[in-house]
Amino acid sequence: MVRRTREEIEGIKSALLEHYKGAKSELHYRDLYQLLVAVILSAQCTDKRVNQITPALFAKYPDIPSLAQADPEELKELIKSCSYFNNKAKNLIKMAQTVLHDYGGKIPTTPEELRKLPGVGRKTANVVMLEYFGHNLMAVDTHVFRVAHRLKLSDAKSPEKTEADLVEAFQGRDLAPLHQGMVLFGRYICTAKNPKCHQCFLAHLCPDQAKSGESPTSHSAAPEPPRRSDS
Ligand code: SF4
Repeated sequence: MVRRTREEIEGIKSALLEHYKGAKSELHYRDLYQLLVAVILSAQCTDKRVNQITPALFAKYPDIPSLAQADPEELKELIKSCSYFNNKAKNLIKMAQTVLHDYGGKIPTTPEELRKLPGVGRKTANVVMLEYFGHNLMAVDTHVFRVAHRLKLSDAKSPEKTEADLVEAFQGRDLAPLHQGMVLFGRYICTAKNPKCHQCFLAHLCPDQAKSGESPTSHSAAPEPPRRSDS
């Protein structure tokens, strides 16, 4: 449920769009294949870590056919610094095999089809679609979830319901750039621990700040979505 006035929401929206104009994912990729693999790896793992892993990974497995034939142990070795690397290795190989056998080797380009691939949940599919194709979609990762809750744009317990609240709050418009902005805002300013409230351009619209003038860590834990490998 959205708990802000229309005026407050418009203030948040325009400030995010202004500050993060043209923002893109910080994952390094050259094509749709590399983006999909990087986003799958980034679940419960930092983009920085994924960017350290992917150069060697893409050198060894440059495309869907090579990944479909990967030896699971060799793949695990390459991605072992990433969380959930056992499951991710299995899912990456199964994803590539599914694309090869069910889609003629071409990665599908609708969120519905992407979600049918092993290792690809709603968030991963939406991130790929909004980042690569600029589709008007919201995706809720750990940063977007936390920011949405701190700014009282949602009080939902799940990423799916939080996504619905954000779509409603933003009236279904500018969702892709708002997602990119919320990710960067959550990663660098409204961080889980010690948010940088003193340099926050949304402080005047933050209910926690308005209530107490204190950092929210002093009176409330950072809201986090339920942990799973697609968030
Ligand atoms: S004032 Fe602090 S808690 Fe509120 S949105 Fe800004 S960084 Fe986050």
